[in-house]
Parts: sequence; structure tokens; C-alpha cells
Amino acid sequence: MNVKLLVTGGYGLVGKSIQELTSKTTKYEYVFLSSKECDLRDSVACQKFFSDNNFDIVIHLANVVAGLYGNINNNYTMLVDNIKINTNILECCKKYKVKRLVNILSTCVFGNDLKYPLTSNQMYDKIPDSSNEGYSYSKRLLATGSKLLTTSSDIEIVSLIPTNIFGKYDNFNIDNGHVFPVLIAKTFNAEKNLIIKGTGSCYRQFIYACDFAKIILHFVDCKLQKQFNQLIVGPPVKDEITIKELINKIVKEFDFNGEIIYDSSFPEGQHKKTVDDSELLEYIPDFKFTPLEESLKETVDYFKQNYETVRK
Ligand code: NDP
Repeated sequence: MNVKLLVTGGYGLVGKSIQELTSKTTKYEYVFLSSKECDLRDSVACQKFFSDNNFDIVIHLANVVAGLYGNINNNYTMLVDNIKINTNILECCKKYKVKRLVNILSTCVFGNDLKYPLTSNQMYDKIPDSSNEGYSYSKRLLATGSKLLTTSSDIEIVSLIPTNIFGKYDNFNIDNGHVFPVLIAKTFNAEKNLIIKGTGSCYRQFIYACDFAKIILHFVDCKLQKQFNQLIVGPPVKDEITIKELINKIVKEFDFNGEIIYDSSFPEGQHKKTVDDSELLEYIPDFKFTPLEESLKETVDYFKQNYETVRK
């Protein structure tokens, strides 16, 4: 009998990247879930969905996700909705005896002024940055809930803590999207000047969604030494760049020659959240991230070709 694998958030940025990678494989019976089919905030609907299906493995991506300004403006909703979603998933995994759960946290869980590069055990050392307090605490609770669940059931859990993710199926909405897709959309639409919120001096590390999808799929069936696993997923420190450096790469990709104006009156979020790849390499020693130039070009080409239909 086929092993049944649920991907929550199956039609988002990471979910569609997993769909792309698995479209020709028959190893598992994949079920990609959208919020239209089941609102995971609703515990009754979530339980019904799990009891109607018999999932062996769950990749849990579904969350209310937004960039800096979406977080600032919706901190309460990000906290409450995500706590509901994550709690319902943990409860259903327990009740319906899911064998393995792969969760996605975020480097937003970390506070400021920690020891860099960050390590996963610093998660609770400082309070979260106020810009993403709601999202951060919801992820911290998912982390704690996952650890405790492994002490009271046989489930194996992997909680991945990725840096910023970007790619073709991103949310290109300039009001609530993440910095990478927002910069692409703004550059595409810029006529004479490109106006940037903030100074561009913050540091970020970016993961191409296809790379992240490959890492997630590795954790679906790799042999695990421990029942509970939590690790940072990010590129090497040398790949960290400032937002200004990213903008320079994006404008080059679009051949944009206008003026770039930085408006320092806007908030810019955490100054840095530097991680390295050492925790990931303990699990996948030979993993290679796609070079940024290559993944940026693929994303921009896709955005240009599909402008009418991309999420925005
Ligand atoms: P997306 O916003 O692209 O996808 C998230 C999906 O969650 C949406 O497609 C949405 O489904 C689903 N969802 C939201 N609310 C509900 C609900 N009430 N019930 C059911 N489904 C719901 O996010 P990403 O793919 O970028 O993120 C995947 C995971 O990775 C998330 O957990 C996120 O927190 C984490 N992450 C993302 C980062 C990034 O830079 N993008 C960085 C670090 C972590 P639908 O479209 O059907 O409404």
C-alpha cells in the first residue's frame, strides 16, 4: 500500500516547489492541501480531514506568512491564527498516529544581538524583534510543542529553521510580501526612480525555494538518529548580503538604469540574523545551494513571463 504524505500549505511558495519536484514521482501518495479545502484554524475541520485520510507523513508548511510590513501590521493575527493552525496539526498528528512530521520554523524566532552565526539552541535566549513578535512566538510554540510531542508519542519530528526563502511561486504583493519578491515587483514596475523603504543596510541570507524543497524531501525519508530534530537551514555565511547588494543584482537583471532612492524613515526589521550551514551539513554533508545569480535569474524570468498570473 502507498505511503500517504500530506503537504499543508501545498499551493504556496514552498508547497508548489515541492509539487514541481515530485510531479513525476510515485514513491508516495501526495496530498497537497489548500486553505480552500480545509481551514486549518478550525479544529473540527482539521480533525475531519485527518480522520478521512490516513496520513503517514506530514510536511507542515501552512501558516499566515508575510514580509516585514505584513508582520508589523498583523502581529496579533499572525500569533493567533498560526497558534491555531500549528496546534491543530500537532494534535492531529498525535491522534491519528502520523509517523513523521516535518515542520517549518523561521530565523524570525531569534531575538537580536545573539552570538553569530546563530545556533538553534539560542532560540529562547532573547525576546523576538517587535516587528515580528506574533509570528515569532507562534513558531517558538510550534518548536516547543513538537519537542514535547516526541516525549509522549512515537512520532519522529524534524523542525527546520530556514532563512529567507524566495522563488517563482512567491507572493509578489508589494504591501505584504517578503523583501526579495517585493524588490522584483517594484523594479519591474519602476519607471524613472526606484524608491526603497529603509536604508538597505540590513543583512540577509536567501534560500531558493527549489533548494529548500529538496532539503525538506530529504527529511521525509532519511534515517534519523533522534526522535526530535531541530536545525537551522541556511547558506554559508559568505553568501550573506545586504539588501542594497541584492537590489544592485535585481536592477542589473532588469537592466534598470534609473535612480535608486533609499527612504530611511521606514522600519527595516532585524539588522541581521546570520546563520551558517553547519547544522544542515551534519544531516546532509554534501548539500550545495544554487548560486544566487542563477536562482535570481530563474525567478525574474518566471516573473516576467507570468506577470499576469503571479501572486500579487
Ligand atoms: P506561503 O504564504 O507561500 O504559503 C503558505 C500557505 O499556507 C498558503 O499557501 C496558504 O494556503 C496556507 N494557509 C494559510 N492559512 C491557512 C489556513 N488557515 N488553513 C490552511 N492553509 C492555510 O508561504 P511559504 O511557502 O513561503 O512558507 C512555507 C513555510 O515556511 C511557512 O510555515 C513559513 O512560515 C515558513 N517560512 C517561510 C519563509 C519565507 O521567506 N517565505 C522564511 C522562513 C520560514 P492557501 O494559499 O491555499 O490559502
